[in-house]
Amino acid sequence: MTGPAAAWGPEGHAVIALIAQSRISPATQRALSSLIGQTTLDQFASCADQLRDGKAPFVCPGIGQLSPDRTTSAWHFINIPVSDDPSASNLAPYCTRTASQFNRTDSNKDCVVGQIGSQLKTLSDASAAAPARRMALMFLVHFVGDAHQPLHCAERNLPDGRSDYGGNEEAVTLNGSAMKLHYVWDDLIETRSQAQDTDVKALARRLIHDIAGRDVRGWIGGNMAADAAMESFSIAKNTIYPAYDADGGVMSQDYQAKMQPIVYQRLEMAGVRLGAMLDQALGGGASSPADSQKRRAASSMPAPRVPRDLLLQAANLRR
Ligand SMILES: [Zn+2]
Repeated sequence: MTGPAAAWGPEGHAVIALIAQSRISPATQRALSSLIGQTTLDQFASCADQLRDGKAPFVCPGIGQLSPDRTTSAWHFINIPVSDDPSASNLAPYCTRTASQFNRTDSNKDCVVGQIGSQLKTLSDASAAAPARRMALMFLVHFVGDAHQPLHCAERNLPDGRSDYGGNEEAVTLNGSAMKLHYVWDDLIETRSQAQDTDVKALARRLIHDIAGRDVRGWIGGNMAADAAMESFSIAKNTIYPAYDADGGVMSQDYQAKMQPIVYQRLEMAGVRLGAMLDQALGGGASSPADSQKRRAASSMPAPRVPRDLLLQAANLRR
């Protein structure tokens, strides 16, 4: 089996982390500072990919020295066959399936949805050891991003019956170059420059500004990991695979432009949800009124007009 590429590429994961960083409450920021000091979330957003793919121990900023561990491969995905009709409340069989594809056995944890739940739990546990919580934070920041990459939550069979592992085995020609469908999606947010740091921050700022003008209440609450996986699955099933089949794998010049709105929305949703999860885990449950006032002022979001429990209900009912 071909190894999966780095999801979204480092730029996408950094953008998601920067969006989350801009939204967390002051209480969450204080908890983060006591765990990782001055390190910001974007600095370690891709360490999980390096952990999986690396050949030598490396220093993950704010987290510590890590040794490569390929057994974490299954944690970046949930492979749901596009021929199926899953529901957010019943993704467990697909977690089991993903675990077995990667020769793993913990069907509650060995997929991206299971990992988000499991790492969130460790991060939330104030009595857990700091190094374990730092690792949980590192994984959570990365996996929330992966769950929003459509091809991390879908697969289909190739003509010979093997899985395509989310487009990792589907050949594509883009601008005259041969590559795999999965890689196209990882790299769709091209920053068009080698000066990546500047461009990543500029894109994050642009998306943060865009989010401020949206009603994002429907994105948060409920089971955000399962919701993210279901949305990703639907985009792969209804948009990405049909477009691939229509093109016969030869992508038109404007493919990237056509898909870019989807990519940006997935990055925005991932960033908003990651921020909400961090507030849940580290913000002491409900943040103080002063905190939420500050946060609203900071993000220029309108104050919620209805109590939070009603917002959660609305989030659950949105489909
Ligand atoms: Zn990944």
